[in-house]
Amino acid sequence: MNIVRVALDLPLPKLFDYVAPDSAESDIGRRVTVPFGTGSRVGVIVARVAVSEQPEDKLKVVREILRDMPALPAEWLALCEFCARYYQTPLGEVTSFALPPMLRRGKLPRMKKFPTEPAVSPALTFAGDLPRLMAAQSTAVDAIAGIAGFHALLLHGVTGSGKTEVYLRAIDAVLARGGQALMLVPEIALTPQLEGRVAARFPAAHIVCANSGMADAARARGFLEALSGRAEIVLGTRLAVFMPLPRLRLIIVDEEHDASFKQQDGLRYSARDVAIWRAHQLQIPIVLGSATPSLETFHHANSGRYQLLELPERAVAEAMPVVRIVDTRREKLQEGLSAALLTGLQQRLDRGEQSLVFLNRRGYAPVLACPPCGWISRCRRCAANLVVHLADQRLRCHHCGFETIIPRACPDCGNVDLLPFGRGTQRLETMLVERFPGARVLRIDRDSASTPKKWQALLASIHAGEADILVGTQMLAKGHDFPLLTLVGAVGADAALFAADFRAPERLFAQLMQVGGRSGRADLPGEVLIQTEYPDHPLYRALADHDYARFARAQLDERRIAGFPPFSFQAMLRAEARSIDQSLAFLTAARSAAAALAEGVTVYDPVPMRMQRLMTLERGQLLVESTSRPVLQAFLATWMEQIYALKLPGGLRWHLDVDPQEF
Ligand code: ADP
Ligand code: ZN
Ligand code: ZN
Repeated sequence: MNIVRVALDLPLPKLFDYVAPDSAESDIGRRVTVPFGTGSRVGVIVARVAVSEQPEDKLKVVREILRDMPALPAEWLALCEFCARYYQTPLGEVTSFALPPMLRRGKLPRMKKFPTEPAVSPALTFAGDLPRLMAAQSTAVDAIAGIAGFHALLLHGVTGSGKTEVYLRAIDAVLARGGQALMLVPEIALTPQLEGRVAARFPAAHIVCANSGMADAARARGFLEALSGRAEIVLGTRLAVFMPLPRLRLIIVDEEHDASFKQQDGLRYSARDVAIWRAHQLQIPIVLGSATPSLETFHHANSGRYQLLELPERAVAEAMPVVRIVDTRREKLQEGLSAALLTGLQQRLDRGEQSLVFLNRRGYAPVLACPPCGWISRCRRCAANLVVHLADQRLRCHHCGFETIIPRACPDCGNVDLLPFGRGTQRLETMLVERFPGARVLRIDRDSASTPKKWQALLASIHAGEADILVGTQMLAKGHDFPLLTLVGAVGADAALFAADFRAPERLFAQLMQVGGRSGRADLPGEVLIQTEYPDHPLYRALADHDYARFARAQLDERRIAGFPPFSFQAMLRAEARSIDQSLAFLTAARSAAAALAEGVTVYDPVPMRMQRLMTLERGQLLVESTSRPVLQAFLATWMEQIYALKLPGGLRWHLDVDPQEF
């Protein structure tokens, strides 16, 4: 019998067999419409078999094999199968996620002409006026070009050290040999400027962007152009790692340390890790670039598993910003700002330069309180406070989106003198406006830049010199050049030093280095002031010395002693239910199921999550850990079968997060 095995987007770890009388071997990798329940679904044919494990008279017949686009290649299916295995996610969920929504629904975008591979590769590389490479850049370019087969390289260099120039040369070499290149960046907001630079360098190349902000049809078209071989360069965010590229010869992951490469829901994959697997599978080089590599990557580069390429200097003749640590222990701060920072701001105003005050907390204040009776603004649905947003007179939960108007009086005792406690970007903005009348203060956070359009408008006015003082969150930290900016002040950074999450210092260092890098990029020297009550903390000291390696080594030593990644491998089982008892009972049952299998694996006790309640659900988690990735993987595969077999109370949901990034 002619049977096809179909991956369907269902939360079940299995494939579905259907009879397909007219199917051929070439239909593997095609989308197919099949009857399911009372309706029909679109899936992907992943195999053809002669006999099914199910009784043949029970098998249904496919409705239609969609042959209106080329089949997805074996390499793409293998990539999806790897993700399904590694992240313990049903293959149908993976293939469905990896397809653009329109193709997933069985549709095709309207196109004048179906994309086809160019018969003869046009001359894609126009050697115009290219900058002469610095020695370190040349070494890097040659190292990448000299690789046959798989190799991972870490390109370590601060902002402005010429990493992008190295990427462009490496892409150039790939295009010259008729290959395709894939470049991943952490944020949608960064793609337009990068696209501009890439397009300017390769005017004849066909460049395709891929990110979740694109319209359905455009995204589907880009996917088909990649699949058909028409696209030479693909630029995108994490989901672009799933673009089918028949002639893929190089993968670049810029800002490889960035947390946004890890998806936090559904398929919880790390695009960087998947990209490394893909490069290995295809036996091609992969370049990971960063000023502050993730400790995993840095560790591999030091142990010789990855090749380390360093760009120690900035490409354009300009010094690194001077980083000064401002000790705030003995100072009475004015609305959170030190005298040193206020003076610095005034100086920049006098000189007509820009400053940035960095505070990674949006809103006016983190909580509203009634001191006489002790009432505080809490979210009804989450174990979190409602944040005061004075700009539009609202209290908002930053976790579930719940919002309500700011009460005129305390709901408990009627007191009208309610006090906002703590400080967010809106409060800083208000304070700066009062303190520096006449200065143009611009706030940049997810509230003021709520749409890409607003964000572009804000960037444009910064560039046009229409702002003197910027107040912003980490939104501002990434990849934007502000030529007039010469001072960055970081406030409220200490909180991350002692956070419960062992990755918090690593993130803080990267963040401060990145915001600091915004200053002094043109011919104006930059200065960074970090306000802290821990002026001798090694993290700040290393930052002041621009010594990432020292910081990273110290962190790695701590992690080695504690047995944390990269010296161990982890997976987190999380559950949510109407009561915490239900969640913990499920996790305890999962733990018992694990006991017999757990050779070489540490299974910790189930605990409530730190933010236990989210959107009225009570959440718990269970950590499993091993010093061997294969051992952990083998354990997870068997464990998952047992977990799928557990009886769940109504309303309980669970998921597994492999290589979790947040604790
Ligand atoms: P990064 O990606 O590390 O931030 P870029 O590649 O964007 O660095 O380089 C920073 C700036 O220096 C850019 O304007 C780039 O055009 C320029 N640049 C890069 N390499 C050179 C070089 N070898 N000579 C002159 N300018 C360079
Ligand atoms: Zn909430
Ligand atoms: Zn009260």
